[in-house]
Amino acid sequence: MIVILKPGLDEQEPEFQSLLAYLNGKPGIELRQHTEHGAQQTITELYLIGDTAALDAEEIAGEPAVERVVRVSDRFRLLGRHRGQVESTGFNYNGLEFNQDNFHLFAGLCAVDNRENTDRMMAALRSQGLAATRMGAYKPRTSPYDFQGHGAACLPYVLELAGEHGIRVVAMEVTHPAHVTEIEQALAAAGHPTGVMLQIGTRNAQNFELLREVGAQTRFPILYKRGFGISLEESINACEYIATSGNRNIVFCLRGVQSHMGAPHRNLVDFGHVPVIKRLTRMPVCVDPSHSVGSRERAPDGLLEIQHIAAQGVVAGANMALVDFHPRPEQALVDGPQALHLEELPYFLADMSLVHDAYRRRRELVQDMPRL
Ligand code: PEP
Ligand code: MN
Repeated sequence: MIVILKPGLDEQEPEFQSLLAYLNGKPGIELRQHTEHGAQQTITELYLIGDTAALDAEEIAGEPAVERVVRVSDRFRLLGRHRGQVESTGFNYNGLEFNQDNFHLFAGLCAVDNRENTDRMMAALRSQGLAATRMGAYKPRTSPYDFQGHGAACLPYVLELAGEHGIRVVAMEVTHPAHVTEIEQALAAAGHPTGVMLQIGTRNAQNFELLREVGAQTRFPILYKRGFGISLEESINACEYIATSGNRNIVFCLRGVQSHMGAPHRNLVDFGHVPVIKRLTRMPVCVDPSHSVGSRERAPDGLLEIQHIAAQGVVAGANMALVDFHPRPEQALVDGPQALHLEELPYFLADMSLVHDAYRRRRELVQDMPRL
């Protein structure tokens, strides 16, 4: 059972204290408190764990501090949108707000190759007023003979340049808990010039030990990429592993699923699931059109297929797009064929903001539509 308190209610206030005393008096019930700092308001939720069947929800709802009482189903206990939970919650990280309403473009290098390209990439982002990027240091590759990423060796210059170019959040995949420690150490050594969002790649979508480890820390938020060969439900459950370990600052990323039916795209695009994730959970939703499409093919209308696919996600309400760019795609060490050129960045950004605006207008359009 979740007891949602009146927005903005402070723990010191007498109504709050008397509610705690009242609930603590219930036998066999453990209380866990969770505060969501949303864009508009702060909401505290009390999770009642144990034999809640005997509790009288109406009586609890009658307490002055209580806004609403929600009985949770077993599904997606922490991240799920349970009946009665209407508000979208999110989190703030290093000055950027992540929720189910806004939109961020995370353009950047699939894999960091050298300092010069990192600098050129970030300078291009800065010139467009962007404060977030993707930078792969640890690269899980299908073949052990392929470039595996520079790992910890590139972190000093990646973090330093991010700080110089005003980048506030760098999304970076980790494939082992040791990588989180290396990132923490590199950030500390550089004087925390930027923030890092830890990416869990599709190949580790059900690496439960890794999920528990990244969930056990709250310093960094998590970008979880849907498993390419598992169901959506299994992927959301994997996020519950992160959340139950203590970290609920998770963005759920769609990146296509493996099926030859998606050919000639690299993966079968699954961006129709954007509104589904919002209905089932309260996580912000990201789309990755680069790893879905896998090439820079252009449609006869002049738009790149990556643009078309990204737009499908954003017009459906995606809150983030993770997109590969490179100053010289032909020289990229990983995924060069799908990397967009820096000269294409302003067009891509303008296109996404147009599409996100269309999404907002679509929402307004249905405000008065009868809910039949
Ligand atoms: C990536 O984003 O660099 C990546 C490897 O993606 P995925 O895990 O979705 O394949
Ligand atoms: Mn890649």
